[in-house]
Amino acid sequence: MIDWTSVVKAFPKSAQKHMRRPDKWKDIPSLNDGYLMWAPPNVNRAYLLEDVTGNLNGWELSFDPKVRTKRRAEMCDLCKFVHGGRSCGVAFFSIPLSKQKTIGLYICADFACSSRCDETGVNAMRESLTPAEKLTRLHGNVFDLILRLHAETRD
Ligand SMILES: [Zn+2]
Repeated sequence: MIDWTSVVKAFPKSAQKHMRRPDKWKDIPSLNDGYLMWAPPNVNRAYLLEDVTGNLNGWELSFDPKVRTKRRAEMCDLCKFVHGGRSCGVAFFSIPLSKQKTIGLYICADFACSSRCDETGVNAMRESLTPAEKLTRLHGNVFDLILRLHAETRD
């Protein structure tokens, strides 16, 4: 069972200090997709919890709300949703790996990538993928990120 205490323990000490249990948090038996991502409102941080290595492991992402993307189209690097109009937009999230190394990428500012896979309309990319295929692509991109994080922090 994954309860909030084990979630917090999976994150680095620096992240544990300011982690707050999300209102909607329910203890879950396992990570269905191998990972879970969420962003609490108004804290400029987001969390990625995964068990790719067999152990629960958490990554804290942060973004500076003052840094806005200069990209014309605001596309999320994970779910490939193109933001515009009244959507939340993307934020440039960074994950510090060491004093010298940081990984950064554009992700939906609300971190709700999986729900974007069902969306259609002007903001959905004009592509022929079904929602299920988009979800598969999202999972692939998240796993790529997780593997990269592990590879870069190994030494
Ligand atoms: Zn996204």
